[in-house]
Amino acid sequence: MKQSSVVRVDLGAGGPTPSASPSTDVDVVIVGAGAAGIGAARTLLSYGRSVVVLEAQGYAGGRACSDNTTFSEIPFDLGAQLFQQVLAGNVLYQTALARGNAVADMTAFPTAFFFGKRPPSDPEVQIAAAEMVSTTAAMLTALIAAGASILTPAQDVAVSTVTDAFENDPYYANAISLNVESITGAPPSESSLLDLFAFLSVSPAPFVIPGDSYFIKGGMGNFIAGLADGLPLQLNTPVQRIAYDSSGVTVHTKSAAYRAKAVIVTASTAVLAADGIDFAPLLPAPVREAIAAIPLGHIYKAALGFKSDIFAQLKTVTEFNTMTLTTPLGGPPGPTYFAKFWDTNVVEFLADADLAVTLEGMTATGQRDYLLGQLELNGIPASSAFDGRMTASSWGTNQYTQGAYSHANIGSVDARTALRAGVRGQIFFAGESFTLGGLHSSLHGAYTSGISAANAALRALGVAAEHGVSAAAD
Ligand SMILES: Cc1cc2nc3c(=O)[nH]c(=O)nc-3n(C[C@H](O)[C@H](O)[C@H](O)COP(=O)(O)OP(=O)(O)OC[C@H]3O[C@@H](n4cnc5c(N)ncnc54)[C@H](O)[C@@H]3O)c2cc1C
Repeated sequence: MKQSSVVRVDLGAGGPTPSASPSTDVDVVIVGAGAAGIGAARTLLSYGRSVVVLEAQGYAGGRACSDNTTFSEIPFDLGAQLFQQVLAGNVLYQTALARGNAVADMTAFPTAFFFGKRPPSDPEVQIAAAEMVSTTAAMLTALIAAGASILTPAQDVAVSTVTDAFENDPYYANAISLNVESITGAPPSESSLLDLFAFLSVSPAPFVIPGDSYFIKGGMGNFIAGLADGLPLQLNTPVQRIAYDSSGVTVHTKSAAYRAKAVIVTASTAVLAADGIDFAPLLPAPVREAIAAIPLGHIYKAALGFKSDIFAQLKTVTEFNTMTLTTPLGGPPGPTYFAKFWDTNVVEFLADADLAVTLEGMTATGQRDYLLGQLELNGIPASSAFDGRMTASSWGTNQYTQGAYSHANIGSVDARTALRAGVRGQIFFAGESFTLGGLHSSLHGAYTSGISAANAALRALGVAAEHGVSAAAD
């Protein structure tokens, strides 16, 4: 990959903003160093274009972020942790393999269910577990059938029009949390069935099909950050304002201005909808409406360390490194647990939608007590075994993400397509929100959308060549 040099030009008093100093000229400014920004930068650099990547936070990776300090045993991913939709082709998974990363198929790890203090070997528990699996399968089948019957976005309906039929099923809370809310991050009444159907068309049984979802031992955040190595990246540099007119684009940070022919904006739709970046002139009304039509849902992740294997009692049934445990039956939805994560005594908790918002709003002590309490409710001696180490995400309250990942408002799936057109051949959008073909809400979708935006910017710069996905991922 070729590196571009950045040419510094003093625009002097005649520059576009009085406070802009120093100023820099590049072909393309990229706002955000998440997967999309990294994919875009690598593509443009491979074409010998000059770019600068401006990242508000102190690390590259965005919503892929490994906590490398809380646990000495493993990095813990506060955001994305799985390569998904691998069977349909996931360029990042292929890159991870080519770079020698250790990965593990999620379905190689057993799934278990909590039923109070009764062990999984209890025959009644085994029957209930089988019913739980069949409820999940029935719900997914109903969602796919209903989604396939929608011919135009105008016929779109809420996901709840399908899932409400299961509301009295004793397994509903688990099935909805594991297989619907964890894909959209939103309550079923708020998300588009057509949008969910696009995802299910790629992965009809998410997290269950062998070969489709992989963990990465070295940490997903670390892997994505590694793809940013060597990029002309400015960390801790929030973009405040993007001004554009027929002479070009000026991207303003607190202390500098960057003149460019084009800008690729990868901030989430939630950040853009909240005017996290000031556009001058305002983005056209249809673009603002499309941004508002693709809101972000919520996912909360936490991990706690334990002095011993608190799931030892479950090992009487099966040996495992990691197992997925769902929430207690019959109660309100609780978190999903990845227990014995990578054969450590670190236990991961994942909650979605409203529960995620509630947990993010609690103090660290409140979160800890809730999570330990959930385990205690199930007869797991968690409080006495807790070793004091805990980490938790806060994607909803982070001003530079303002949520986990996107879903379309009902009837608004076309907004994802509309945003891909960009503005005046000068402003291009990339990121998981702007991803088509059911790849939204994912890292590989974000990364490939960055490549697409770079291709669009190259065309606007008069470069005819089209860069393929794999070349930018090598
Ligand atoms: C808890 C959680 C679990 C997930 N699990 C998975 C998973 O297992 N598998 C999967 O494939 N996907 C998963 N995802 C989704 C995946 O993380 C995202 O789709 C992907 O990381 C989005 O990348 P992006 O580049 O579009 O956005 P981001 O990663 O958000 O990157 C945008 C960047 O822009 C920066 N920024 C924002 N505003 C400004 C500004 N004004 N100036 C400069 N920079 C700015 C942000 O700091 C950020 O770094 C998960 C997400 C979450 C939150």
